[in-house]
Amino acid sequence: MSDINRLIKQFKEISIEADLSVLPDDIREALPHLVNAMDMITRIFLAQQHESLPYHYDEVMDGNDEERRQFYELFKGPYNPLTDYKSEFKDINDRRKGCAFYPDALEDCRIENKIDLLDEEQQKLARDHYTVIRDKDEGLEIIPYHIFYADELAEVFEELETAADLIDHEELSSYLINRAEALISGSYRDSDSQWVRLTDSPLDLVIGPYEVYADALLGIKATYESMLMIVDFEKGAALKEIENNLDKLATVFPMPAQSKGAMGGMAPIVVVNQIYSGGEAAQGIMAAAFNLPNDAWVRGNVGWKQVMLYNVMKAKFDAVTKEISQKVLHGGENIDFEPFFTFVLLHEISHGLGPAYRKDGSEVAKCIGSSYVAIEETKADTGALYLILKLGGQFGIEKYDDEVLLKTYLAGLFRSMRFGVHEAHGMSNLIQFNWLFKKGVISVDGAKFSIKVDNILKTAEKLLEKVCHIEAAATADEAEAFLDEYGKPGVEVLSALDSLSDIPTDIKAVFPGF
Ligand SMILES: [Zn+2]
Repeated sequence: MSDINRLIKQFKEISIEADLSVLPDDIREALPHLVNAMDMITRIFLAQQHESLPYHYDEVMDGNDEERRQFYELFKGPYNPLTDYKSEFKDINDRRKGCAFYPDALEDCRIENKIDLLDEEQQKLARDHYTVIRDKDEGLEIIPYHIFYADELAEVFEELETAADLIDHEELSSYLINRAEALISGSYRDSDSQWVRLTDSPLDLVIGPYEVYADALLGIKATYESMLMIVDFEKGAALKEIENNLDKLATVFPMPAQSKGAMGGMAPIVVVNQIYSGGEAAQGIMAAAFNLPNDAWVRGNVGWKQVMLYNVMKAKFDAVTKEISQKVLHGGENIDFEPFFTFVLLHEISHGLGPAYRKDGSEVAKCIGSSYVAIEETKADTGALYLILKLGGQFGIEKYDDEVLLKTYLAGLFRSMRFGVHEAHGMSNLIQFNWLFKKGVISVDGAKFSIKVDNILKTAEKLLEKVCHIEAAATADEAEAFLDEYGKPGVEVLSALDSLSDIPTDIKAVFPGF
């Protein structure tokens, strides 16, 4: 098998289930227009990675190199997201750190220097999430996205407007119009706010420039993406009880050294089934949950929406986690999706619980340096585990069979440790694993692992106390020492991870046709 083929095969093709019959006819009629708009978003995203990529992409799609075509389709270009976007093809260079956001040849310090020479207003524009920067004479030219991509966005506008005209649901229709206008005017705030409030529509759509992950040069430029989703009101209603009891959940988290929790209320949590994706959301590893918008003003004044992609999460669980479980756990077939889903949900909620500010008012996120993300992820995971164990059967949290729950949790640890123990999420899972392993809750016999029900509650509580204490009071050095002690893989973990090489990395979604 060629390297390209091996990479493609790491993403298991799987049908994503969603029941389109719950949508009224008028909305179903609008879907093809939304899909056209989303495909145009993909086109813009290609151009954001490299200006000539849209044309090159067409050539490959029309050509007869089947492997290359499949690779481009899956990863939206020649770059491999598993290797920091190195090109997998000899005739193409690696993706630039600054993608096509910045002038071709500028390294980070040079672009910073050049930005510093601009007048104040231009500097502000240059550091905006939604502008591209180009060379002009001796200086720089700053062009807002809505002007730079005006031709493509005009088509997006037209498709969204047509869809809005077809749709009877007033709030959804109005949101689509406002979003269309936001995309061609570059003012996103009103439609972002409207999206957060849009909770009774059977269809949901995010479309526009959102995340800044792709900008490895300055980390400020947003990429275009889009997700189309059917809302599952029944599952959402079950979560309402959890939302309404957040104050009770919060009391389970230690607040050492007079630290304080996050201010303000929580935003709505919605459960959806995804039916299409565009732009960055259609590239490589699929998101199983997201939280938008990122705009600080909207988050502070209106809030945000936490979206759980049920069908994507389920497909990933079936294709990846179940396989891992069977390979490395004793009785590994005995895991279940429902506790996994609840765990992920409580993980997201736990990010909002526990210490957020120290006694002196400083933000926890800025007190422990580069260890923060791994510590915070450990808090979210351990908080979720502890909440299910301690409060299962109360406040809307389901009560699961302990043994199934813990096996599902342990399989999840292995799934994440695979993504690399040098990356914060992988490391946080390793910390949990090592903590439980050292205390004898997890044990290994031959090549397979077991997890004991006795003592798990106490052991998880101790770890939660530990990480909350680090967040509330530790120095950066102390936090790093903790990562040194618990964040390194032992031989058992390394050989278990080795044995997983033939299990898919992620899924390639086949969405329902409509
Ligand atoms: Zn997290």
